[in-house]
Amino acid sequence: MDSHLYRNVCPGRVINIQRSNGLIHKATVKTVSVERSAVCVEWSEGGAVKGKEIDIDDVITINPELSKEVPAADAKENLPLQENVTVQKQKRRTTLSKIPAPREVAAVTANVSAPEQKIPAVRGRSRMSVITESQCPLQENEMGVDPCTSTQTRNNLSVPAGRTRTRRLSCATEASLTNGNGNTEDHLPAARTNSSVSPVRRKSNIVKEMEKMKNRREEKRAQISEIRTKRAQEYDSSCPNWEFAQMIKEFRATLDCQPISITDPIEEHRICVCVRKRPLNKQERLKKECDVITVPSKCVLLVHEPKQKVDLTKYLETQAFRFDFSFDESSSNEMVYRFTARPLVETIFEGGKATCFAYGQTGSGKTHTMGGDFSGRTQNASKGIYAFASQDVFLLLNQPRYRNQDLEVYVTFFEIYNGKVFDLLNKKTKLRVLEDGKQQVQVVGLQERQVSCAEDVIRMIEMGSACRTSGQTFANASSSRSHACFQIILRRRGKLSGKFSLVDLAGNERGADTSSADRQTRMEGAEINKSLLALKECIRALGQNKSHTPFRESKLTQVLRDSFIGTNSRTCMIAMISPGMSSCEYTLNTLRYADRVKELSPHNGGGEAQNQMETENEETETSGEGSGHSLSKDEEEDISPHMLNLHKATTQINELEEKIVEQLRELRQRMTTKLDYLLGITEKPDYDLETFVSRAKHFIEESSGNFLSVRETLDALGAAMQLEEQASKQMRWHRP
Ligand code: ADP
Ligand code: MG
Repeated sequence: MDSHLYRNVCPGRVINIQRSNGLIHKATVKTVSVERSAVCVEWSEGGAVKGKEIDIDDVITINPELSKEVPAADAKENLPLQENVTVQKQKRRTTLSKIPAPREVAAVTANVSAPEQKIPAVRGRSRMSVITESQCPLQENEMGVDPCTSTQTRNNLSVPAGRTRTRRLSCATEASLTNGNGNTEDHLPAARTNSSVSPVRRKSNIVKEMEKMKNRREEKRAQISEIRTKRAQEYDSSCPNWEFAQMIKEFRATLDCQPISITDPIEEHRICVCVRKRPLNKQERLKKECDVITVPSKCVLLVHEPKQKVDLTKYLETQAFRFDFSFDESSSNEMVYRFTARPLVETIFEGGKATCFAYGQTGSGKTHTMGGDFSGRTQNASKGIYAFASQDVFLLLNQPRYRNQDLEVYVTFFEIYNGKVFDLLNKKTKLRVLEDGKQQVQVVGLQERQVSCAEDVIRMIEMGSACRTSGQTFANASSSRSHACFQIILRRRGKLSGKFSLVDLAGNERGADTSSADRQTRMEGAEINKSLLALKECIRALGQNKSHTPFRESKLTQVLRDSFIGTNSRTCMIAMISPGMSSCEYTLNTLRYADRVKELSPHNGGGEAQNQMETENEETETSGEGSGHSLSKDEEEDISPHMLNLHKATTQINELEEKIVEQLRELRQRMTTKLDYLLGITEKPDYDLETFVSRAKHFIEESSGNFLSVRETLDALGAAMQLEEQASKQMRWHRP
């Protein structure tokens, strides 16, 4: 029996009914029961209202016209209850399938990008997510929906993975609407076989109807398979993830993207956190890599994370992130510079310190942005943030207000690799980092090159960049494991007046190398991990105007210490994003990190976090700033205890390693001097043998003492290395 009978036999409809005495008269349908395949009717008789329940088959026998299909428009008005529910669901889904994903995100976008939007001081408040799901085409076809818009969206606003989700609007109606084939059979009443009233003739009608339905179903199946094939062709099915690509394409089609433009106002931020998406590169395009990043507006970035349910349904979880600025793949280095580092140049002319960091996964565009864009294999150093900032420094220097201030410009360029500093302007000479009693950090011997024009600076950048990458193969590029720091220093009659440090950070994915079997790789990983965590903490502390920062946690933050303290310090972080689907996980990590950096910035609120910082300060100030762990409680929650142990062990190793090098250096110095002196005595023709013997003995005793002390340090270093190994094993065992 077809469902359109139920549309025809609907409440309010006047039908013929037959009384037990054979008399036929009119009655009005009051309710329809699909389950019992019956209708309740009412009629007036002798001033009273009477009623009864009649089997639907009997209704059709007496009202044969009802079994004929009626036009859809008529049917709509006469929908019986059950059918109505289904159609409502279908309607809602249809609407959603056409618009909601983008519309909802547009709303999200509007919300998150509105500058006056008050963002609550909870984690992840600048992130939201929307789920977009691929849908069975049969249903859409049944609903008359263009198969090309077959994207169903479940909209929900949620805090990021692992945190509480609040489903705002759910349309999880598929299960009740369709069977496995996507048909709506579930809503049809079961064919009745035991009716005492139904004559054989009616049965044969039913059989015919069912056959018709079966044929229609088969036709629809054939259509679906055709649509799939057509769609696959349309959307380049050679692309391994064409279904996701299609969902993203549809999603974007309805977004009104308004990327940042040169005319947008440049805002002043003490801490500015931005994100930049690079374009897909040639290899990625050849591999038909799917671009999962959308930048709908100047502050928002969307990540369309591909997901698959247990039933293999593919869907997208789109997360929205908000930053001070977000740059899409069409943004040039100039544009990025204009809104990020440029506003900081003036700071150093006012006696302040500025820092700008490029953070992200290897290959995401950090060096391209900071050092200059590449044309083929050669880098154009004049088109990077280092060069743009230097040009602006000279522009300002020549302005009347600064021209007569006796300012001189110097640059330094160094690399921090595995907690050690190497001078990129002096053949990668290893430099010592010393700290005096006043906690002033000095990089001993770091070459400061005086420059008098932007061209001078560009030559230095080229020299340093070449030095950084020399002798490394692509596969073993140490540049991805080192932080490169380019500094522009202003001095007035030799005295430091302002400093701008621009840092191309190590690839953040390297921080995960901590469970490698190779100690060197592990140590590098731990050092990167530590330095990026410490950097985040230092920026957060800067946002809170705190005098203490956990700068001793890593060489990077230790060397940049003076830039984080003081009232006139400003910083900017540019999170770099690779657009490909294969980078999605790292991209999300990068965005979460950047999100946390900004979390505490004053104009974002964040009182709760402020307390955390204060607690941290009290603790670390009382315990001193030694090698002990001094990350905030908040930060400690983010890393496992095993990681903390590993950090401690690697810090110890690094300190002991430095100590042993110092001891050996001193020993060499002392021994050479003493041995030269002793041998000098013997050169003389009339030297006093007794004096010589006593001095030589004294030297040997003193040297043994020194050797013993070196031995002690070596033992301690061995113990620290064992601890590190254990901590690393623990990490491997406890890996999620
Ligand atoms: P990272 O320093 O983060 O490891 P790179 O800056 O070396 O990454 O960039 C990796 C590759 O991507 C380089 O070949 C670079 O030219 C290219 N690239 C990065 N950003 C962009 C961009 N915005 N536009 C064009 N190409 C880019
Ligand atoms: Mg790089």
